[in-house]
Amino acid sequence: MDSKRYKCSKCMKDYASSEIRLSPNSKIVCLYCLGQKATIEPKQEAKKPVVNEEMLEYTCGACKYSFKRKKSFVLTSCPYCGKNDSLSQKKSGDASNILKDSMSRQYDF
Ligand SMILES: [Zn+2]
Ligand SMILES: [Zn+2]
Repeated sequence: MDSKRYKCSKCMKDYASSEIRLSPNSKIVCLYCLGQKATIEPKQEAKKPVVNEEMLEYTCGACKYSFKRKKSFVLTSCPYCGKNDSLSQKKSGDASNILKDSMSRQYDF
């Protein structure tokens, strides 16, 4: 059914709808042109563990033990005394990370 062809605004070739994406400014761009442009945001690696993952610092109020865990780590109890009701997280500014996240999502549709 889907025999409609779309012309890429970059390379001016015709593609099927499955090979076409809309750029943020509503231009039709083919996957190949997008692929050439996507060096800044490698989509494929989004699922891989990030090497440079942000570390969060925690302090246990019960034993005063402080330690660091990766941001994705789900903290359930203090590794030193095992208590889970006295843990507090030290705040650190990570606004730049949130910004980066929302920007890469523009391409993700
Ligand atoms: Zn193209
Ligand atoms: Zn503790």
